[in-house]
Amino acid sequence: MKILVLNCGSSSLKYKLYDMEDESVLADGKIERIGHENAQITHQSLDHSQIDKTTPIFEHTVAVVECLNLLVDPEYGVISDLNEITGVGHRVLHGGEYFKKSVLVTDSDLAYMDNKLKELGPLHMPANIMGIKACQDIMPQTPQVAVFDTAFHSTMPKRAYLYAIPYVLYERHRVRKYGFHGTSHKYIAGRVADLIGEDVTKLKIISCHLGNGASLAAIEGGISVDTSMGFTPLEGLMMGTRSGDIDPAALYYIMKKENIPMANINTMLNKHSGLYGIAGVGDMRDVQKGVNEKKPMHTLAYEMYEYRIRKFIGSYIAAMNGVDAIAFTAGIGENTPRLREIICDNLSFFGISIDKQLNQQRKKEFEISAPDSRVKVYVISTDEEVIIARDTLQLVANVHSQSN
Ligand code: ADP
Repeated sequence: MKILVLNCGSSSLKYKLYDMEDESVLADGKIERIGHENAQITHQSLDHSQIDKTTPIFEHTVAVVECLNLLVDPEYGVISDLNEITGVGHRVLHGGEYFKKSVLVTDSDLAYMDNKLKELGPLHMPANIMGIKACQDIMPQTPQVAVFDTAFHSTMPKRAYLYAIPYVLYERHRVRKYGFHGTSHKYIAGRVADLIGEDVTKLKIISCHLGNGASLAAIEGGISVDTSMGFTPLEGLMMGTRSGDIDPAALYYIMKKENIPMANINTMLNKHSGLYGIAGVGDMRDVQKGVNEKKPMHTLAYEMYEYRIRKFIGSYIAAMNGVDAIAFTAGIGENTPRLREIICDNLSFFGISIDKQLNQQRKKEFEISAPDSRVKVYVISTDEEVIIARDTLQLVANVHSQSN
């Protein structure tokens, strides 16, 4: 069976077509700068035929059409008919409290996303929904599956997900911590268990997803019990351009002092803060370059970034009363040995110790803990798409078995 995975971001579309016999990727690609004259399409197929082109694409529906056309293209495609695709899995940012697991999308699901969830993720949800609708229009017979970034964290206990504000605000508006990157954290927990050779239900794992957005998850017995992102993906760690945790009273004070409206505060926290807010650059490669050149603000940003990750790891060890394994993933987690070393060296109290040689490796997944470390430490390249493809296959297979 062939499963297509679509990830419609605010101005991009990434896709992968899987052959689920062996989970091999038949074709993948991305369309960036959607909404511009010069949208950039990059597509490659299993036989390594590749195309890069720039073309005007003003909305996601058109991007989906471009993607599907490339999959059936005689020169660059890998299938001859869209009917060969058994199901499409869509990455969806927010499931709220309603979607606790992946679903075969019905009209009422779509209406719920549109009416209730769009406002919880105003940057991503419109694009996510548009991607689903476009596929429904073009491939009406093909099941569409929604896989939510929040779903893995739906197992958090109330004590972890509630904010200590008037309870009525939770009851009326469902204001609470939801958490994000769930698909990545789920994948990482599964891989850690496989690498240790133990059932995931017997392990306490801290998954550190450090990309442009960054979050940690405390995973006990295979389920998420706490995570650093909250009601939105702004809470928690310091990120590329996002502030992470800040005293909300400071925002009120800034609004008054600078005479700026709430909408601008939101932009400041999401786009002008984090590494960027301190060092003036939001990309970790640029921060590291500045650290090497001994630039004080780059060094300060780097220290703040590391310190907050370390504090969260410590708090999750407390939350679970122990930890068996810590795993680093995503752009920063996978590519910054020095950051990993500083974090782990500063956690030696817990018996965490890494092998500095092993830590320098660059491959898909590897262990970096020293033989005497009480806690296993791994670097694992995340794979959210394969989890989406598996969930999609499972739901689609259920439909097939029920109809037979
Ligand atoms: P996204 O959250 O957008 O999926 P990624 O997981 O691709 O992001 O991570 C992007 C981050 O990873 C950027 O801050 C980038 O600087 C960082 N990164 C990527 N490669 C390296 C590298 N070789 N060294 C340091 N940082 C890196």
